[in-house]
Amino acid sequence: MVIMAHPDDPEFFCGGTVSLWCAAGTEASYLILTNGNKGSDDPKMTPEKLVTIRQAEQQAAAHVLGVKRVIFFDEPDGELEPTLDLRKRVAAEIRRYKPDTIIAPDPTRYFFSNRYINHADHRAAGVVAIDAVFPAARNRMYHPELLAEGLEPHAVKEVHLFGAERPDIWVDISEAFNTKIKAILCHNSQIKDPEALQERVAERSKGIDEYGREVYREGFRVMKIG
Ligand SMILES: [Zn+2]
Repeated sequence: MVIMAHPDDPEFFCGGTVSLWCAAGTEASYLILTNGNKGSDDPKMTPEKLVTIRQAEQQAAAHVLGVKRVIFFDEPDGELEPTLDLRKRVAAEIRRYKPDTIIAPDPTRYFFSNRYINHADHRAAGVVAIDAVFPAARNRMYHPELLAEGLEPHAVKEVHLFGAERPDIWVDISEAFNTKIKAILCHNSQIKDPEALQERVAERSKGIDEYGREVYREGFRVMKIG
């Protein structure tokens, strides 16, 4: 289960990994916490219209990667807070779909190099995701109203945090890179110059593998939860 703030975050952050996992038979879900209703500088765009467009784009992108379902929480874009209520709702989805692995943003990252300020919604999504994994989804006596709905506790085995300062693992996504780009390009409303974007994603994804080969990759800090 990929828990992210905005429609398009999964494709940018972990689209290659998701594509590889789905191709290998993983059943994947997206949980998108905000509705993306502020993601436009077009004076003719309205927040309502944008939500419809962005949810359709997200569905299309998920389809490209082989993701089985997309759950939208419809929180206002730019206002995501890791509240107790949101944590409970995320824990409910974890209990409902019982994922082995969660992918979420690393909530500790405020900056990427000296050029990017990490979006506050990404940090909030990371906090909510990990707090929902433990203890809210796992421990029986947390949020008893979930039990009353028939949502039994569920223990997630691994959390993969994207955007960590020092990733523990690098997934070689070279094979899935074109699929990742294809999925990113589904987010038409967010893209001004597709070619420049493609180059930027390629540049950011480049790395050297253990055999010294140039590859495309996505890095994660991985928590294996005992
Ligand atoms: Zn985002």
